[in-house]
Amino acid sequence: MNKPLILVVEDDPSVKNLITTTLKAHDYRFLSASNGQGAILEASSHNPEIILLDLGLPDMDGVDVIRRIRTWSNVPIIVISARSEDTDKIDALDAGADDYLTKPFSVEELLARLRVTQRRLAMMQSEPSSGSVFRNGSLTIDYAAGCVYLDGRELHLTPIEYKLLCLLARNVGKVLTHTYITQHIWGSSWENDVASLRVFMATLRKKLESAPGAPQFIQTHIGVGYRMLKVE
Ligand code: CA
Repeated sequence: MNKPLILVVEDDPSVKNLITTTLKAHDYRFLSASNGQGAILEASSHNPEIILLDLGLPDMDGVDVIRRIRTWSNVPIIVISARSEDTDKIDALDAGADDYLTKPFSVEELLARLRVTQRRLAMMQSEPSSGSVFRNGSLTIDYAAGCVYLDGRELHLTPIEYKLLCLLARNVGKVLTHTYITQHIWGSSWENDVASLRVFMATLRKKLESAPGAPQFIQTHIGVGYRMLKVE
């Protein structure tokens, strides 16, 4: 895998130092900014391939930085938030961030998130989203025929399970919030839609995962949402 150019946006010197030291040690190329205006400037002038964005910035809200960047770019954005900023993290995902890290995080967690994002980038480049067949490990979705196969055997999904699976597959590697999913599936996001979502997700997983206790395809992010993982 080629190492992508990463933009690090963080105003806390010690966190910034931890990130940049880690990136350097693993041969990533990087740029940095310590506020929102600088982040927007660096993102527009250098086209980084991944952005690591702290949500608590001195000059503007990190969520607004995401909204601004999303007006011209689909670059993967991993937000970094403190535990006290849990709702900000969900707002950030809804504004178009791809993933999140919660402070304090370990070097291993940071590297794992970068690998997930790189796999997503590689997949986006090799299979344009207009493709009519989605493949991920033993899972195949034939969008044109509306059929799903696992290890070559057809899976019988209900219409809602199918819609859910396609939504996750089209956003493989990305964390989707409960609100995002329920709005796409039901057009609304009431409390009971989130409860229904859990039920449909459980039945979908029973059909999809050979070991539902250790899911291979769909990861749960407690209090946040779900993500389809890119299987090696
Ligand atoms: Ca900060």
